[in-house]
Amino acid sequence: MSLGCEGLLTLTIKMRVSPEPALFEKLMNLMRRYREGLNRAIRVVVENKALSLGKAHKLLYNVLKERYNLPSKVAQDCYREAIAIAKSWLNNPNRGRVPRAKTPRIWLTHGYSYRVKDSYVEILGGFRLRIIGWDKRYDAYPSGDARLILKDGKLVLEVSKRVPKPVKYVARGVLAVDVNEKHIVVGNSKTEHRFETAVEKALHYKHLAEELQKKYSSPKYNAWLRRRGIRDRIRYFHKKTRNIVEDWAKKVSYKIVALAKRHQYAVAREDLTNLIESLRELPKQHRVGLIILSYRRLEQWIDWQCEKNGVPLIVVDPKNTSTTCPRCNTKLNENGYRKMKCSRCGFEANRDTVAVLNIEKRALEMMGGSLTTPTAPQMTDVTPNRCGEPVSHPEGTTALQYGEEVRGK
Ligand SMILES: [Zn+2]
Repeated sequence: MSLGCEGLLTLTIKMRVSPEPALFEKLMNLMRRYREGLNRAIRVVVENKALSLGKAHKLLYNVLKERYNLPSKVAQDCYREAIAIAKSWLNNPNRGRVPRAKTPRIWLTHGYSYRVKDSYVEILGGFRLRIIGWDKRYDAYPSGDARLILKDGKLVLEVSKRVPKPVKYVARGVLAVDVNEKHIVVGNSKTEHRFETAVEKALHYKHLAEELQKKYSSPKYNAWLRRRGIRDRIRYFHKKTRNIVEDWAKKVSYKIVALAKRHQYAVAREDLTNLIESLRELPKQHRVGLIILSYRRLEQWIDWQCEKNGVPLIVVDPKNTSTTCPRCNTKLNENGYRKMKCSRCGFEANRDTVAVLNIEKRALEMMGGSLTTPTAPQMTDVTPNRCGEPVSHPEGTTALQYGEEVRGK
């Protein structure tokens, strides 16, 4: 982490913890009651628009204490968390159903309902959990609130930490990122790299889930729902699909940002908002759904990796990036499969290369033309799926998360 500070980043550090066997059932019991109470509180908050602490307290405090048997402090944390969840759900223009907590959990206020001492976490109510492993790089920064959840049968404590944002360097060039259904093309006028998307791989599991679903369904009732083994298998396939996309977005974004950092480039990506919106209007297909998910997660992960690593990020207008001549701005003509040609200056390149060069050009313009415009050499010789020397991936060594768990900036 560099010394300069441009505000703070909120990270989530995950710790595997293990409770003392004698208290395990008691703790699980509390976490289950908390989950039920939280789901009730979310519904009540949404239905009554009770987004203030006072209003939520009036509607929920006694119910949470009496019906769900939550201790006073836990009941307060519970409606507080419900308000936060309801707010972010209400702010989401594409919100689906009201969110529900699925796994047993509990919210913990730092210093009051939990504290970390040596290699133990102590939780209000006399629980002591041994810490099995965590990311020690952020030990120097103060801990914030935490959440204890049961994930795949394991207890995980997610502690929020506020760490200073690294200062962004002054870019010596631009690394442009172009996405399409099959590839992510990364490059500029000097280099080009390709990464395959995970859409096909993820789709495989979507199909497996669907086949099972069809096999055990009848027009009258969904038999598969009634068979636990099959239902679990279907859920597993759906989860696997999402995990594949998430892992892919994480890894590719890391490689892109590491490459940019090594050459002191700024990362330039297109603003995909409109593309995603137009994809949403297509018939609901698994493939389309997975493309949308991939684009969104990749955007979010790239932005996050840039913030975390002090890499400048530029978001450019995506209009006509793959159909305009990067040399003379003339509209290009198609010249075979995914090939484009300029009738005015003779420039010829693959559609993805055209997009990369235009994104680079637009980003350089936005940076104030401090660098010379690309000379756009003909790039047909690309390195497939290779990103220079191998970069060590943080996965497994870090527990940083982006998404719901990363709040504020
Ligand atoms: Zn041209």
